[in-house]
Amino acid sequence: MTVEVDSQLNTVQEATQKQPVLAAHFMRLVATQRLSHAYLLAGQTGCGKRAVAQMVAMRLFCEHPTETGEPCGTCAECHRILSGDHPDVVMVQPDGQRIKVDQVRYIKDEFAKSPVEGAMKVFIIEGTETLTTSAANGLLKFIEEPVDNRVIFLLTTNKSLILPTIQSRAQVVEFSAIPTPVFAQTLRQQQVSENQIGLVSALTNSETDAMALVADNWVGDLQHELARWYGQLAKQDPMAFVTVQTGLVPLATDRNRQSVVLDA
Ligand SMILES: [Zn+2]
Repeated sequence: MTVEVDSQLNTVQEATQKQPVLAAHFMRLVATQRLSHAYLLAGQTGCGKRAVAQMVAMRLFCEHPTETGEPCGTCAECHRILSGDHPDVVMVQPDGQRIKVDQVRYIKDEFAKSPVEGAMKVFIIEGTETLTTSAANGLLKFIEEPVDNRVIFLLTTNKSLILPTIQSRAQVVEFSAIPTPVFAQTLRQQQVSENQIGLVSALTNSETDAMALVADNWVGDLQHELARWYGQLAKQDPMAFVTVQTGLVPLATDRNRQSVVLDA
């Protein structure tokens, strides 16, 4: 059980470390019963959207909120939410590339049902941008007409792919980049070497993108070629132009890496 307790504490920690302002904001909304019925949480992968949404769900059900108004993370309710076992907290992640039709049906069915135990029912839908237009339209009905005791969190990494009708009916909450020291710590936990953390965190704030950059020592190669190039530029060595062609251009193997090389 120790492992689960650790992961419970981690969710609250993750939310409060990555998004201290938003986490505190949502805790206040719950405490003062001003939570809206639909939120669109927008921000890049790893910025703490799910942690914040789960923390809200925990706070709504927690048996012993802390003095500072956070969920305890250890009571039976918090425990069940974190293990995905709470009948009134519906969590959906894309099954593969997108949210499938039967998952949408499940969300609708659950939305139609009253809370099983508590006074509230919470929905946390990840990858909202992967919904087909018809599926998104289907969900729209639930967002349009607020139902008592329901709160829905739609999470997305790409707000521009969300139907304007959904954006206008939900409260859009933009998640900012996570604080640099927190991101550096995340990279450290992912075994990114200390001498690459600076460059990687200067290039991206997304954990997924960061891991793609360090794969196959790509960032190591980039560091090496950049150092060579800067050295040549400093000496006004005409070879600097050649280095761009032979060293840097070959590293731009795809669009993402191309833009990183240009940034660098
Ligand atoms: Zn609790």
